[in-house]
Order: sequence, then structure tokens, then C-alpha cells
Amino acid sequence: MSEVGKYPITIKIIKLICKFYVHLLKSPSRIVQEVVNTDKALAAEGFPSYYSYIERIFDFIGMKHLLYMCDTYEVSNQVEFCLEKTLTKLYDKKWISDRILFSSNSKLEFFSKVKSEFEFAEYLDVVKNPNHRAALTKVRISAHKYPIETGRYRKLKREERECPLCCREIGDEEHCILRCPHPFLTDIRCSITARLSSLEGFVPESTDDMDELCYLLKNKDKEIMHLTSKLCFKIQEIFQELTC
Ligand SMILES: [Zn+2]
Repeated sequence: MSEVGKYPITIKIIKLICKFYVHLLKSPSRIVQEVVNTDKALAAEGFPSYYSYIERIFDFIGMKHLLYMCDTYEVSNQVEFCLEKTLTKLYDKKWISDRILFSSNSKLEFFSKVKSEFEFAEYLDVVKNPNHRAALTKVRISAHKYPIETGRYRKLKREERECPLCCREIGDEEHCILRCPHPFLTDIRCSITARLSSLEGFVPESTDDMDELCYLLKNKDKEIMHLTSKLCFKIQEIFQELTC
């Protein structure tokens, strides 16, 4: 979901629960009002009830003051116009703190390097070739079949997940895309990096392979996105042909 910048469905569910509460408050029916009052009384006595969940939700999102407001119109307005902003702000904050945790998780470490903002990843619109686009996504979210990932499924230690094409290094994204000396990979890499280097907007800030890979995967220049996705696709294709 992070890749498309979409908020989780929980946010929609919380909004619906809160809107339903407002709907009950505004109801002219005496029976409904009695039910709400009984529910409130149950919650006050510590029994789990609909209102006790409402209290927990409003408390969690920092809008508990709405439960004590007498002006139903104002409560309705705040739920209608402020709730979504509050929920998305809370989620953005959580996403940033989770991202820091990602960097200490070996599976998510790479993703935390290439995804620094919770937003729609532009390449999803820019790269029209579905194979190239999918290949780029696979690398960004570590859903590829390089040894660093396949070895994880086989429960191999990180140092045992070496590249089967050269047996020199761990077969991670950086090695397979930018460094593996296998001639087939080198050929396609040289041809695409030559085109990348000729682009005016191509200015890698570092000569470190990981920095260069992140520069390519995060780049918002359309030409660089096209060539990077093609590079990811070609390398994955050759790697699969040679190892399967
Ligand atoms: Zn290799």
C-alpha cells in the first residue's frame, strides 16, 4: 500500500463508525436516543458496549472532547471535516516511526532506503511497459528472486545467500543489478548504464553502489525511471533464465 500511497481500510472503517455515532446523535427518534443513553450508562459502569468502543476510538484519535459537546451540529461538522485529516495525520506519523523500525528489520531495510515518503510512487504512472514497471516494483519492495530473498525462504544465513552466477558475493539487489560480473549481466548493464550516463539529469551523488542503486530506484526523472525499470526487468529476466 505504501507504494501506491493509499491509506489502510481501517481509516475508512473508523470514519464510518464515527459517522454512525453522529447519525445516532442526530436521530429524532426517542427510541434511538434511549438506546444511546442506555449504551452510555453501560459504558460508564465498565460494560463493553458500542459507546465504550466509540470512547476508545475518539480517545485514540485525540478527539474525545467531541463526546462531551452538546452541540450535535458542531460534533457532526468536526467528524465530517476534521476526522479524515486527523486520521491521515496519525497514520503518516505512524508510517514515519515504522520506517525507522524498518531500517532495523533485514527484510524491510532495503524498502526503507528507497521509500522515504508515504505517497504514490510516480513510476507507477510514468512507466507504461507493465513488465518493466512490475520489475521495478519487485526490486523496490524486495519481491524478487535474487538469492538474498530466496535464501531467506530457505532459512539460509545472510552470508550463505551467495550469487550462483559468480559465487563471489551475497546475491542482493545491489550485487545482481550493479556488480555481478557474469558476462550476460555485464552486457545488458553496460548498454543501459551508458544510456543513463548520457542523460542530462543523471547526476549520481555518490560512487557507492548502494547509493547509486537507491538514486536509480528513487529517481523522479522520467527517462531515468524508464531506463531503471528496463534495467531491473532485463537483469531479472537473465538471472531467472540462468538460474532456473
Ligand atoms: Zn554474481
